[in-house]
Amino acid sequence: MTIKQKAVLIDCDEILLNHLGGFKSYVEKYHNIKTQGIPVQYNLQEWLQCSRERVMELLEEFNFRSYEFGLLEPMDRYVVDRMHYLRAMHPDVAFIIVTKSGTFGHAEVLRKVNLHNVFGDIFDDIIILEQNQSKKSTYMKLAVEYDIVTVIDDYLGNIDHVIELGLDNVVLECPHNVEAKGTGSYNFMKNWCEIAEHITFKIDGCYW
Ligand SMILES: [Mg+2]
Repeated sequence: MTIKQKAVLIDCDEILLNHLGGFKSYVEKYHNIKTQGIPVQYNLQEWLQCSRERVMELLEEFNFRSYEFGLLEPMDRYVVDRMHYLRAMHPDVAFIIVTKSGTFGHAEVLRKVNLHNVFGDIFDDIIILEQNQSKKSTYMKLAVEYDIVTVIDDYLGNIDHVIELGLDNVVLECPHNVEAKGTGSYNFMKNWCEIAEHITFKIDGCYW
């Protein structure tokens, strides 16, 4: 029996890169939109004070046609350091990004350049799906090829597929998902220090 390579699946927006922070600056700069309160992901109408259709237009403009989409900053102050540490400690584990940021316009190139600039060339693969696609079939394909260590995401719709497939999950706690913390269904973590410890534990069976 062949032993499958271990893999960690990582979302990009609001996990590795601060997409909503970049988007907020963009709509303020070009559309004079002042955001209200905190964002609720995939339902940004209240945050941006505009219709659902307008939110989708603005997101497409930002992801597909702005250069600012390629200048997103790290999600927290630990993530770059911890990803480098994990990469160095686990050269045999595949670290694979699965993101639904879309491939139209400049989106694919800017995403890859952004990730290379912030993290260096440390990821084994960057899988970019369209915004209206589900991650489930990608998770299923990857689970055939790899021994999945864990899947990290902030969007609970994605994590529900992870749980359905019987895979380990990590949810980075954000204003848009924290309400579900009380359900006990998800492995919420506060920052990348906790996430990196969890990944190490899942790979090695012990904490560093
Ligand atoms: Mg995300």
